[in-house]
Amino acid sequence: MQDKYVTNCPFCGGTEVIESYQSSYGSVTAVSNKMGGVGLYHSICRNCGSVVRSYVKEPEKLLKKKDRR
Ligand SMILES: [Zn+2]
Repeated sequence: MQDKYVTNCPFCGGTEVIESYQSSYGSVTAVSNKMGGVGLYHSICRNCGSVVRSYVKEPEKLLKKKDRR
């Protein structure tokens, strides 16, 4: 799956990114909801290995249920 937000690597100009997933111990937790926590995805440049982008798939899950849209 190509990440539509990434066009090329800002460091080396590479156009191929590898989508990777960081879970469990590397999960991201919102400060306001420490009970939450979602896995973090990384777009890593295939050429130089730089992390071009880090993101979560479902940011709403970082919020408490009552605060979600
Ligand atoms: Zn690169």
